[in-house]
Amino acid sequence: MESVTDYSQPGRTSVRLKVLVDLPRHSPLDPLLDYLAPEPWPAGTLVRVPLGRREVCGIVWGPGDEAACPDGEGAAVALREIAQVLDALPPLGEAWRRLAAFAAGYYQRSLGEVALNALPPDLRELDATQLARRLRRGDKLDREAAKAAPSPSADPAAATPLPEPSDEQREVLAQLASMPPGPVLLFGATGSGKTEVYLRQAQRVLEAGGQVLVLVPEINLTPQLEARLAARFPGRRLVSLHSGLTPAQRLQGWLAAHRGRADLVLGTRMAIFASLPRLGLIVIDEEHDPSYKQQEGARYSARDLAVWRGRSEGVPVLLGSATPSLESWHNALPAAEGGAGRYRRLDMPARIGGGALPRVRTVDLARIAAQFGKRAVYSQPLAPPLVEAMRERLARGEQSLVLLNRRGYAPVLHCTSCGWKSDCAHCSAWRVFHRSDRTLRCHHCGFSERVPFACPSCGDPDLQPMGRGTERLEEQIAELLPGARIGRIDADTTRHKGSLESQLAQVHDGEIDVLVGTQMVAKGHDFRRMTLVAAVQADAALFSSDFRAPERLFALLMQAGGRAGRDAELAGRSEIWLQTWHAAHPLYAALRRHDYPAFAAAQLLERESAAMPPYAFQALLRAEARSQEAACSFLDAVSAATLDWPEAAEVLIFPPVPAPIQRVADVERAQMLLEASSRQALHRLLARWQPVLQQAAARTGEARVLRWALDVDPLAI
Ligand code: ADP
Ligand code: ZN
Ligand code: ZN
Repeated sequence: MESVTDYSQPGRTSVRLKVLVDLPRHSPLDPLLDYLAPEPWPAGTLVRVPLGRREVCGIVWGPGDEAACPDGEGAAVALREIAQVLDALPPLGEAWRRLAAFAAGYYQRSLGEVALNALPPDLRELDATQLARRLRRGDKLDREAAKAAPSPSADPAAATPLPEPSDEQREVLAQLASMPPGPVLLFGATGSGKTEVYLRQAQRVLEAGGQVLVLVPEINLTPQLEARLAARFPGRRLVSLHSGLTPAQRLQGWLAAHRGRADLVLGTRMAIFASLPRLGLIVIDEEHDPSYKQQEGARYSARDLAVWRGRSEGVPVLLGSATPSLESWHNALPAAEGGAGRYRRLDMPARIGGGALPRVRTVDLARIAAQFGKRAVYSQPLAPPLVEAMRERLARGEQSLVLLNRRGYAPVLHCTSCGWKSDCAHCSAWRVFHRSDRTLRCHHCGFSERVPFACPSCGDPDLQPMGRGTERLEEQIAELLPGARIGRIDADTTRHKGSLESQLAQVHDGEIDVLVGTQMVAKGHDFRRMTLVAAVQADAALFSSDFRAPERLFALLMQAGGRAGRDAELAGRSEIWLQTWHAAHPLYAALRRHDYPAFAAAQLLERESAAMPPYAFQALLRAEARSQEAACSFLDAVSAATLDWPEAAEVLIFPPVPAPIQRVADVERAQMLLEASSRQALHRLLARWQPVLQQAAARTGEARVLRWALDVDPLAI
């Protein structure tokens, strides 16, 4: 009968247990429900319980309330029995439950939603029999992994020798060895050998019997690091956790981690919720990357949760970056220098092999316009000196990368006689002209149509593209550099599984001379023969309404530049080119000197005087409704509700405003910013606010269409 527990025998049910379930959003029920069980199963045990007419997965959270009368006041459901206990699985540990509870409280989501969604979807569907089968499959995988691993007694000379640590690495490793656990910001240039430091730290932890969790920002960065980890730790069990896996693979990886059989777990942000009974180290690579923030549902930051988890479990957390987020930089700055002094900082400024960082060259477009005429800057994507520099690369057999953060052919199509523009019928946005399949496509709602033969408004056939996207850039570069082999990588060219990998392989194999791409190519890929990186429209970030745009631009360019010429031999002639109308801007000046600390200091000064993060703590309340008025009146009402609260005294609630893209897929969106100088003050308000938000949303006449979401520490406002 396996481990299925049969509760059908009368008289066997005796104790009450609190079971956590994932209830539908805004359900009036508490997600901790009392159930009857024959035994006091320990907290963290996975169970299946009846809920309404369904049977769902739940987590035993503790003893139930023996005093409460099941059909008394407030009990919305009569006490029912736990249907099955998945006790073949060890219970989720106390530390894991603490993490889930913290994340739910901090990001203002229900505990049931956060905890249950942190489990692999397949696990939530299994009954005890099915689970037993998966566990046996796991046992088999473990045995196979053990067999495949070289035995420790194998010829040690056959193992590849470890690289001798550089002086900087040696110093950093010595510091790490003598430090108490806590968050450490590893501030190291691209190619300074940060990954080697992670590997050495991982080794220490593995030898001491710990598990190591390594997070990277994107799925497509996992294969590289996976190969490196596997090569370095051949006898260790390594699993991945990310959304690119099949549900079965994800379940097996999760089980191996939870049962303590996996030594190394490599994953994207979701992996921060992995159950790791022997956790000994957390590494967050490229910690500044915005992908660590979940942008829907429970909007958590995996990086911030990692720091919390490290503290909670007494485990060191290594945050690595060449261009840290300003939050982390501020946290790592000693109090004496105006920082928060919460993290330690270790620096590795030099590149391995002494390779120089690429030279940064700014193309002053104002000067180019004066010299070559306005046409040279308005109709050509690349200024003559940049084209010349790319020609030189071409002649030497080196590669160039041209970055433009806008896909499609042109962001708008317009009519030259009546001024019609390709707007979207469902969004307050333009539809993008895609020349390859001659469509107008909305990048917000997906609405797509063939390009009309003539202007839909006046009938004139002369429709012209306005502005430039990657498709058009690719075409224009082909005209400027005849004979060059040009490739393009963006969300359009990489839609099919495996296409990104094959396109990257083409670049690596030297089949492409010039690569045009959006920021997705700037991350992590090591292009050895690339000696020029150009940003053709960098200025947009300088004047963006998003106060984090300069920080992102700086990180993107440093990172893209870091790709350039990793070979010491080529590094000498590697260059980053920027086309700008604001050549004297301090951001570019700092970039020319590769001076992140100076850039960060200037940004922090601005942020401090404007009382913005990291000097203030924010939350954003978003509302969606049929009309802008309905969305705003909801926001106004919940704002007004706080007027006489003591909790609101230290929190600034701004008036509601339409979202940056006000209408998407026929839904109107508005938002309201909350700001406080203390995190605690903000959270006191949010905690009291939750029920008010729910009630107000329910009261709104449009209850069925009004939706709201709180974003704590929002990245985009
Ligand atoms: P980062 O993560 O800082 O960008 P990596 O750790 O990837 O840098 O190191 C850059 C390159 O230098 C890699 O090819 C790596 O194998 C090599 N490397 C790192 N440390 C050493 C070392 N101590 N000796 C020789 N090569 C090293
Ligand atoms: Zn027209
Ligand atoms: Zn649209």
